[in-house]
Amino acid sequence: MTDAPTRPLTRNVRADRSPTDFAAYEANGGYRALNATVGRRSPAECLQVIKDSNLRGRGGAGFPTGLKWSFVPMEDATPGHKYLICNADEMEPGTFKDRLLMECDPHQLIEGMILSAYTLQADVAYIFIRAEYLLAVRLLREAIAACYILGSDFSLDMYVHVSAGRYICGEETALISSLEGKRANPRAKPPFPQVSGLWGRPTIVNNVETLCNIHHILEHGAEWFQSLGRGEDAGTKLYGVSGRVRNPGCWELPIGTPIREILEEHAGGMEDGYQLRGLLPGGGSTDFLTTEHLDLAMDYGTIGKAGSRMGTGTMIILDDRTCPIGFIHNLTRFFAQESCGFCTPCRDGLPWSAQVLEGIETGQGRREDLDTLAYQIDYIGAIGNTHCALAPGAMEPVQSALKYFREDFEAHIERGACPYADGGAH
Ligand code: SF4
Repeated sequence: MTDAPTRPLTRNVRADRSPTDFAAYEANGGYRALNATVGRRSPAECLQVIKDSNLRGRGGAGFPTGLKWSFVPMEDATPGHKYLICNADEMEPGTFKDRLLMECDPHQLIEGMILSAYTLQADVAYIFIRAEYLLAVRLLREAIAACYILGSDFSLDMYVHVSAGRYICGEETALISSLEGKRANPRAKPPFPQVSGLWGRPTIVNNVETLCNIHHILEHGAEWFQSLGRGEDAGTKLYGVSGRVRNPGCWELPIGTPIREILEEHAGGMEDGYQLRGLLPGGGSTDFLTTEHLDLAMDYGTIGKAGSRMGTGTMIILDDRTCPIGFIHNLTRFFAQESCGFCTPCRDGLPWSAQVLEGIETGQGRREDLDTLAYQIDYIGAIGNTHCALAPGAMEPVQSALKYFREDFEAHIERGACPYADGGAH
């Protein structure tokens, strides 16, 4: 374990070499885990290591990866009968971590995918990527082509599928529908994709960052991976910050790093003239946290107990000179546009919420609008009233804005105008 890295995911992020340089990747320890695993360790042994590592999915839900994989029926070893899909449809507002991994080190993702497919005994893998990530698409295709020279008894075909671009394609069953050439509507679960996914076959869908962790865990062990975290969770995490901070960006840090440390030490604190008002900890579909939460660890359990979700781990900052109503109106409009249209509370409810917020923001709001918003939050935001989690996720910033910034809603209604319209603090 002597050369075990403490920042495994970004160790190859360097400006002095091409990201697709196969020889440089190998020289830095790349494909070592692959060579030491395929044909030398059984898939069952690999699965146990991933389970023991406590890796949780990095796409937003945080479901334990090993447990998810264990639902795939392993007795069926017929070729062409299992699929691995990498979810690279990174469309969560404020999230840009997977882009960094794919653009700076595509071989890391490919090695992780080969080892994941080996563990699951899948023989076809897809990278489902959003169309705007043109550079990542090119680099991944170059890197995959280079990998076909790798010789082993395990055969895997890997394809890069460029998505037509919808937020809902990030939901794994909608992604599968889209990959099959159908409209990207989420499917009812059960059956879960692990049993009946792509073309009705067992399928695992994992996020880019999740899959990038796999070869490091198989190489350095579950205990090493657990030792990387600072809180309840294991490993490192790519945290990001956007908004009025001095140094917006993305950093690999121990999972469980406190919010304050990420904001102050890595993002450089707020820009001059701006104060922190709140933050969405894990992308646009998470609840606001405020200055009272700054010392919390950024891990799944801690952020969940504070009433939000760690989501993608990429924070969006709300400063004191930006109108919170305008901020959430913008997000709600986005989610309304991205509804797949399958169920009424989402298809019709989200545009209605956006309309109410726009009325308040532009000075047309009435007191009753706050009751309407509360009703929408209760109905659209309730898990079970919609077919998938898009609509409840869209209501998270709205419900927490009403909780923490209610005086702003009232000030808009009382003044008949946005108090931030002149760009000053309220
Ligand atoms: Fe489609 Fe929205 Fe219903 Fe999800 S909640 S199935 S995105 S209409």
